[in-house]
Amino acid sequence: MIHSLQFRLLAAFTLVILVTSVTVYFFVSRSTVGEVRTYGERSERFYASGMTRFLYRFYRQNEGWVGVQQPVEQMAGTSGRRIILTDSRGVIVADSEKKLNNSFYRPELPGHVIRVPGMNEVTGTLYISPSADPASPQSLLNSVNRFLLWGGLLAVIIALILTFILSRLILAPIQALKLSARKIGQGDFSQRVVSRAKGEVGELTTTFNLMADNLDRAEKMRRNMVADIAHELRTPLSNISGYMEAVSDGVVELNAATILSLKEEASLLSRLVEELQDLSLSDAGQLKLFLQEEDIVRLIRQIVARMQSKADLKGLTLSVKLPDKVPPVRLDARRISQVLQNLLENAILHTSVGDSITVTAERKGNNIEVSVSDTGEGIPETDLSHIFERFYRVDKSRARATGGSGLGLTIAKRIVEAHGGVIRAQSEVGKGSVFSFSVPLSPERL
Ligand code: ADP
Repeated sequence: MIHSLQFRLLAAFTLVILVTSVTVYFFVSRSTVGEVRTYGERSERFYASGMTRFLYRFYRQNEGWVGVQQPVEQMAGTSGRRIILTDSRGVIVADSEKKLNNSFYRPELPGHVIRVPGMNEVTGTLYISPSADPASPQSLLNSVNRFLLWGGLLAVIIALILTFILSRLILAPIQALKLSARKIGQGDFSQRVVSRAKGEVGELTTTFNLMADNLDRAEKMRRNMVADIAHELRTPLSNISGYMEAVSDGVVELNAATILSLKEEASLLSRLVEELQDLSLSDAGQLKLFLQEEDIVRLIRQIVARMQSKADLKGLTLSVKLPDKVPPVRLDARRISQVLQNLLENAILHTSVGDSITVTAERKGNNIEVSVSDTGEGIPETDLSHIFERFYRVDKSRARATGGSGLGLTIAKRIVEAHGGVIRAQSEVGKGSVFSFSVPLSPERL
């Protein structure tokens, strides 16, 4: 609860409102007190000077204070104040409350001396109680405070309600994301979040859905891969166990030919396992290359020489068209040999007597491009775009019989790409295929 985003938003808003209210209260009350006090003092002075002028006129007309009690009472009555007037000696000549007449006054109220204008002669002193007006500084301040208190309280309540509604709106997509993330965490990769939110939350939703897509795809791929691997392993394994059973049942004789067949199946298995290992290394981005400056032409000649006997055995012409000299290339000789060997094996496999296979190499821009072309059966256009996918085989049944796992080109592509190059295939059914790959030249050789 305390850690929930909604609670934190509520707390943050409440805090902001409280701080604002207290600050406003502080400044408003200070300035109100000041303003009201100066206003009060000014009006008090104004009132007092009006009175002294009036009383002086009375004094002049009546030549003394006799009879002043009545007008003083009147004035006090209309203003709601207590008014005391003393003569020049300090003896009270009028008291609006009629209590202290004819006694000496010990001033308790603020006094205003009444003088003869222009001279120093004092005719009396006027004492006036402060106004009992309800608009005194304190009462005004109290009402401002009350207003601020209730206003602040109302603002807090409105803000809380608004925050509650807004936070629900803002947090709804986040809540949906939370639920979906939980389900994905439990293995349900079909989860997607539908939200019309824009801005950061919208972006988060899009990214989340993208992540879910990728997870979903990866999971499907993993499942397919496991199924494919199981499928690929099943054939040689069942062949091996078939041979074993036949031998133990006495149906097949355990002779050199049987052992050779068993060996072939076992080597098929170990090749498959090796290919799978390469694939998983490249999947994990750990296909380590041991790069060294190599003479790629020499490397090609080596591999071609190694494959020559296989080609001869099938009645194929295997030739090379290589330049005399190309700049040295930084590459992993073992891995590039693996690529070239795979392309040559494929070419030999998909050609027949009288066909020819040619290996060429040439510098194209900043790359060395190596091509293996054959005049074999070719690849249908619909398959051509898939041949670099894992476990993809054009002729499923025949390819298996010839030992292909459908991983060779996938691995070749990964190796070439790890070198920073590209691999391509062109083919026409009945005419043959051309597989080419490029390896970039070392920058210092350009
Ligand atoms: P495999 O290990 O089964 O040979 P690859 O990944 O090397 O698998 O090749 C995929 C498929 O591409 C093969 O099954 C084959 O049908 C096709 N292919 C590859 N090279 C050639 C070629 N030179 N001519 C015709 N088809 C080919």
